[in-house]
Amino acid sequence: MFTYTANPARVVFGSGTLAVVPDELQRLGASRVLLVAGKSAAEAADRTADALGPLLAARFGEPTMHTPVEVTERALALVVEHSVDCVVAIGGGSATGLAKALALRTDIPQVIVPTTYAGSEMTPVVGQTENGRKTTQSSPKVLPEVVVYDVDLTLGLPVPTSLASGVNAMAHAVEALYSAEANPIVDQLALAAIRLLAAALPRIAADPSDADARTDALRAAWLAGSCLGSVGMGLHHKLCHTLGGSFGLPHAETHTIVLPHAMAYNAPNAREAMRRIAEALGAPDAPTAVFDLLASLPVPRSLAEIGLAEGDLAKAAELATAAPYPNPRELTRDGIEELLRHAWSGTRPVPAEGTPPDLRRLTQEVVDSFAGTPDPRLRELLSELVRTLHSYVVRTDLTQEEWEYAIGFLTRTGQISSDTRQEFILLSDTLGVSSVVDVLTNSRTPDTTPSAVLGPFYVEGPPETEQGADLAEGLPGTPLWTDVQVTEPDGTPVPDAVVDVWQSNEDGFYDVQLPDLDGPVLRARFRTDAEGRLRFWTIVPSAYPIPDDGPVGQMLTAVERHPFRAPHVHFMIAKPGYRTLVTQLFVRGGDYLDSDTVFGVKDGLIVDFAERTGPAPDGREPWRRLEFTFRVTRA
Ligand code: NAD
Repeated sequence: MFTYTANPARVVFGSGTLAVVPDELQRLGASRVLLVAGKSAAEAADRTADALGPLLAARFGEPTMHTPVEVTERALALVVEHSVDCVVAIGGGSATGLAKALALRTDIPQVIVPTTYAGSEMTPVVGQTENGRKTTQSSPKVLPEVVVYDVDLTLGLPVPTSLASGVNAMAHAVEALYSAEANPIVDQLALAAIRLLAAALPRIAADPSDADARTDALRAAWLAGSCLGSVGMGLHHKLCHTLGGSFGLPHAETHTIVLPHAMAYNAPNAREAMRRIAEALGAPDAPTAVFDLLASLPVPRSLAEIGLAEGDLAKAAELATAAPYPNPRELTRDGIEELLRHAWSGTRPVPAEGTPPDLRRLTQEVVDSFAGTPDPRLRELLSELVRTLHSYVVRTDLTQEEWEYAIGFLTRTGQISSDTRQEFILLSDTLGVSSVVDVLTNSRTPDTTPSAVLGPFYVEGPPETEQGADLAEGLPGTPLWTDVQVTEPDGTPVPDAVVDVWQSNEDGFYDVQLPDLDGPVLRARFRTDAEGRLRFWTIVPSAYPIPDDGPVGQMLTAVERHPFRAPHVHFMIAKPGYRTLVTQLFVRGGDYLDSDTVFGVKDGLIVDFAERTGPAPDGREPWRRLEFTFRVTRA
């Protein structure tokens, strides 16, 4: 069971959205607006004031960090004096905090235009400072009615503030994942926020005017703020609160320094959350990944750097553990003091036991080695192959012995291959790769016949054969009269198409597998007539095992998979100006349709090989009849 409360704010997100504020006020029915904005948002506030015209009742220009009550009271006087019925706040957490403090006292609706990534606009919580003490309270009155995210307003946010409030947002998301109230909805918001921030913050540090990175960071701020508004936070937030409140450390920088160390402290008791965070960051271990991310950014790394005295660590630990609160790991004084000592000196957390080594740099080096490849597609294919292979080796913790076995396996796969035996195609087929490539390449149009893999038994240039001939002359098996047509998707016949047909004999063998056989058997090349039709005799195909006396067979044995293919006839239909169709028709009711060893069966290719009563025209009985229309498209 879980509980999730969606906070009912209306959100407008985009570039240039500041312009919608008057419309949003109209929706709310507001007529006397208080505009709150500090110096950093003065220009945006001036524009908004102009746009509001007579709706603007008053302005307040000094929102203050941590929402001191005396500042709120000055703004409240304006609310009363001007009969204000709505507040618009443009700025960071400080401007939002003031709007919330006013709403707490008057319940006036709020339109918030955030310009940092702190996320306060998404929470029903207000923190206020009185006589130097900050307290928080939660009330539905405090939750803003409308949030207008305008990416343009964040382009000028200085890099240090951007990074500090971005990491603040990441902390909301991280702690949401191991919160006592964690739930699957908030988890998704949190993971998306972490992913977006990890990618956006380095880009913002490199180029603060990168509008795409700013968009991602602001989206992440929204998501992370929603996490903060939905579930309770833990150790990290409390610790930052204590350090900020009792030792006068700068709020934002404290967050940035403490986060990886708080994560490392909680990691042993929040393994699943850490695993998911690590995965979102593409790293083996979450706390060190966050530490490394921050180490790559121009932000302070140690509490010593921002002025905490070493002698204060014990006192800080005592304060931080004085009142119990929900946290995945028990808060012990010694444990917290040790955590703080790490944060104080800025040392990299030790990865959790059993964490695989971080090989991202090695992978990147190999990928970088392809940077000069002139063919961009070749560069992409090789880079992605290396990333995937490295990741596979890491994720499976591949041993030297297993690697050697794989090399030996591939060597044997090559050695057994010849002109008539293609073990690599078999390997690709039995791993489903051929079918994946086939679907991507050939089956993107729903109104044409689905394609199927070519398979290893196609031989170029089968003998040209007259319509009506019998491919199976003299072979045992149930006679099959095949009457098919090739048309375009709208039914227009396709005459003169070259149709290659090949299939197995009654024992399940193709001619190329029978060295004593002289010449092509059960394979032919036809041409469709003026109506796109093609008729010939053959025999009903049987299920057959793929050649399983090689490495692929050993693999199937090892995994206890059978080597059988469902019974089918192959067709390749080609005509200049048309897309060549390579496909197979499967016998409805045949064996192995649901466990075809090369994953080649598609619903649209299972067809009736209808049993007929009475003798065939040439007197044989019983016999069967196959009718099918192949739909091909122009190239
Ligand atoms: P802030 O609003 O004080 O902004 C930080 C600094 O950045 C300020 O100097 C501000 O003038 C400047 N700034 C803001 N936007 C700018 C822009 N676009 N361009 C240039 N400069 C800009 O602080 P913050 O980091 O946004 O938020 C922190 C505050 O929010 C703290 O008081 C914190 O407690 C509170 N907060 C509350 C909640 C909650 O749920 N109640 C959640 C998160 C944060």
